[in-house]
Amino acid sequence: MSDHVKLFIPGPVEVRREILEAQAQWMIGHRGKAAEALFARIQTKLRQVFFTRSRVYLSTSSGTGLWEAAARNCVSDDSEGGVLATVCGAFSERWAEVFERNGKATTWLRVAEGEPITPELVRDALLARRNAPGRKPFEAIAIVHNETSCGLTNPLAEIVAVVRELSPDTLILVDAVSSLGGIKVDFDGLGLDVLLTSSQKCLGLPPGLSFAAVSDRALEKARHVRNRGYYFDFVELEKFLLKNHTPATPAISLMFALDKQLDDILTEGLEARFARHRRMAEITRAWARRQFDLFPRAGYESDTVTCVKNTRNMDVGALNRFLENRGMHISDGYGSLKGRTFRIAHMADMTEHDITALLGAIDEFLAEA
Ligand SMILES: *Cc1c(COP(=O)(O)O)cnc(C)c1O
Repeated sequence: MSDHVKLFIPGPVEVRREILEAQAQWMIGHRGKAAEALFARIQTKLRQVFFTRSRVYLSTSSGTGLWEAAARNCVSDDSEGGVLATVCGAFSERWAEVFERNGKATTWLRVAEGEPITPELVRDALLARRNAPGRKPFEAIAIVHNETSCGLTNPLAEIVAVVRELSPDTLILVDAVSSLGGIKVDFDGLGLDVLLTSSQKCLGLPPGLSFAAVSDRALEKARHVRNRGYYFDFVELEKFLLKNHTPATPAISLMFALDKQLDDILTEGLEARFARHRRMAEITRAWARRQFDLFPRAGYESDTVTCVKNTRNMDVGALNRFLENRGMHISDGYGSLKGRTFRIAHMADMTEHDITALLGAIDEFLAEA
């Protein structure tokens, strides 16, 4: 049996062999001309993928590191207004905890798992703050665009419009870890302030890098926030970015892979890439409705990961043992949803053919059971 198991899990995803191989180049010094040229090429392409003309910081960490960056750079220590953390599942909950553990005043806006953060809920939270005597407006709002634990996509544009209308000075911090590169998120068009993602999800790379587009006003805010730390300090990252450097030694091998993968992403075309994700999601959803049911509220299902309600009480572990013999692997439900749901990721460089093969194999398993 081949040791290659195709990962239909929401990160790390299957990485194409050419991309894995692009990492195997001779090392270069990170302060040399070759590294500067590599950084500059990557920067130009990242800005296209993030739909921004501002800047995209590159971090040698997983996306969680940039959660911490957003918390430390964009929210003050002394309750200047604090952050409104919207929570609709396990990842958004963890980001809220990251704000708290960094000592930031955190107001939770929580909905049940499977329910979206609606613009109406955000409106109510902003109005409540406006009417609270002596309270300043929120310094920031944190939104997870695509909640990976429930396979749900929040209505980002509608939420952003409400924030702009009712609380124009509030920075808009968006986690698009499991959507950027698979679902369109237009940083400049929406007027976002921080938009972060990881390498190992829709961008189809190994884990180890993460990226954040940062607006001028978020960078300006950071200059006035104390205790930003060092590794994730936007002011420091900016100083080095202007020279095509990173403050510390970056994961150079991953940058080689990123350089090639960004070429391939732009060759496919961003719109074509989003459309492919949509088609893979539609195939998966139609299958899930036939064999099971979908977990998230109808109309908010993600185009990058489908969360299936396990209405047959199927043994997901047994399914995965069956699939692994065929070189495939899916994801169990996350946290409290384990067993009650399972998840099929259709992100990065997966094709409709891959998805059809997977769903056919699951059908076989169900027929045998
Ligand atoms: C995977 C994931 C994270 C965590 O990212 P890491 O790169 O593992 O640190 C954060 N948010 C969402 C929505 C995710 O799917």
